[in-house]
Amino acid sequence: MKALVAIKRVIDYNVKIRVKEDGSDVEKDNVKMSINPFDEIALEEAVRLKEKGVVNEVLVVSIGDNSVKETIRAALAIGGDRGIHIGTEGALEPLGVAKILAEICKKEAINIALLGKQAIDDDFNQTGQKLAAILNWPQVTFASKVEIKDDKAIVTREIDGGLETLEANLPVVITSDLRLNEPRYASLPNIMKAKKKEIIEMNADELNIDFKPRLKTIKITSPKERGGTVKMFSNAEDLVKTLRDKEGLIK
Ligand code: AMP
Repeated sequence: MKALVAIKRVIDYNVKIRVKEDGSDVEKDNVKMSINPFDEIALEEAVRLKEKGVVNEVLVVSIGDNSVKETIRAALAIGGDRGIHIGTEGALEPLGVAKILAEICKKEAINIALLGKQAIDDDFNQTGQKLAAILNWPQVTFASKVEIKDDKAIVTREIDGGLETLEANLPVVITSDLRLNEPRYASLPNIMKAKKKEIIEMNADELNIDFKPRLKTIKITSPKERGGTVKMFSNAEDLVKTLRDKEGLIK
């Protein structure tokens, strides 16, 4: 059985985002980039499925310019077996990404496609759903537990007020939620081993797919600065007095 994990290179979640002065984009030069956190979780799950003997190969795919190769290498150090870099320049939208991933899923005879539930830069939360629609595969989104039994995926998802467990036939698209697992760190020996793993290079134009953006970014602005905090009470006694006498909130 073969698993594909789609990983996006995004600005590291610890970085304070700065918007470019002309409002055209956010600053990406000299900024730390990492694997999208939800994709790291998807990758961890695929590696665990391989460790359990459910999956024989974990294929890591990333679409973007040449810099994403570094991100693929990092994913191979975590446990991916082989990488595919689909080269593109310029903006990409979920539909374009999904169309490209669908081609790879078909070419590589993938049984389980694992994606993050959303990329933390654009927050689209669309690619997994679109991929499943294009392939006509079942999809289980926001997974917090995944089990593969025979040719079925049994997936638990967190929903309002509880958990929902669904069963889907393979091949399937699964998107990872935050609590699916805790991703491991790459060990030094695995970082060294990853240098020898294969990364296949392909240009997106070779796939004959229309992945041109359909949206135009008009403007990006920073959120409003938050006002400073104001000290309203100098001690607990004043606070209790106000809550009791003025607000009537405690007796
Ligand atoms: P989104 O729909 O943009 O929020 O992204 C959802 C998921 O799609 C991500 O967590 C990734 O697994 C995958 N994805 C999005 N963009 C890319 C990309 N450029 N390369 C590979 N995977 C991607």
